[in-house]
Amino acid sequence: MCDSKTCSAVAVAPARRKFLRMTSVSAFVAAIGGMSTDFAVAAKAKVLPKPQNTLSPDDALKRLMEGNARYVSGLTRRHDFAHEREALNGGQNPYAAVLGCADSRIAPEYAFDSARGDLFVTRVAGNFINDDVLGSLEYAVAELKVPIIVVLGHDKCGAVDAAVKVATKGATYPGRIQSLATAILPSVNKIKGEATDLLGAAIAQNVRDSVVNLQTQSAIIQEAEKAGKLRIVGGVYRLGTGKIDLID
Ligand SMILES: [Zn+2]
Repeated sequence: MCDSKTCSAVAVAPARRKFLRMTSVSAFVAAIGGMSTDFAVAAKAKVLPKPQNTLSPDDALKRLMEGNARYVSGLTRRHDFAHEREALNGGQNPYAAVLGCADSRIAPEYAFDSARGDLFVTRVAGNFINDDVLGSLEYAVAELKVPIIVVLGHDKCGAVDAAVKVATKGATYPGRIQSLATAILPSVNKIKGEATDLLGAAIAQNVRDSVVNLQTQSAIIQEAEKAGKLRIVGGVYRLGTGKIDLID
């Protein structure tokens, strides 16, 4: 950055040329190296920014559900973002990871009455597992040591409804919206013949399938669960009340 007239194009040019000389491979390696360093700093900070976030899987679930109860009752805590900023500048140690829908009405931090640095949240419309979602959650488990992952669906989910309409009416959608519906379609097909409330049943089945996919598609997650360091639960957020119902 230049803030003086003496800083001319002559001074800038060598740096620019040097940058341009970098091969695409070296730029890629530099980028990956930088990312790894950031991850390492985040995970290995000597002093945990939030010591109260070091919880067992069961205690983490208890804290989540207590937070949801406060949210439902309207008695949420005051979260002092300015006070926490300095601690979180040095790292993160969230006490839970959440896979939620992109729906604007579902905000996990609000729903669990949690603050910054508490939840590692991955969101995609329809809260299903794909490679990028799985990689994000593997990072939360392997590096941040989260003790619990919550797969959080919600009622009246538009993404699941899109898959229901594919299954029942052969609906098609423009662009990549179709890929969302296609990803959720197997869950719909599992319960299509037996459900009276097809959308409600598909929402629950999609959560169950996402839990199973987490448990079966990742060695990192499998090992953590087997060692008792990680619990994976599914839940459905009720739009009308804000309550999160855990599902089997
Ligand atoms: Zn949704």
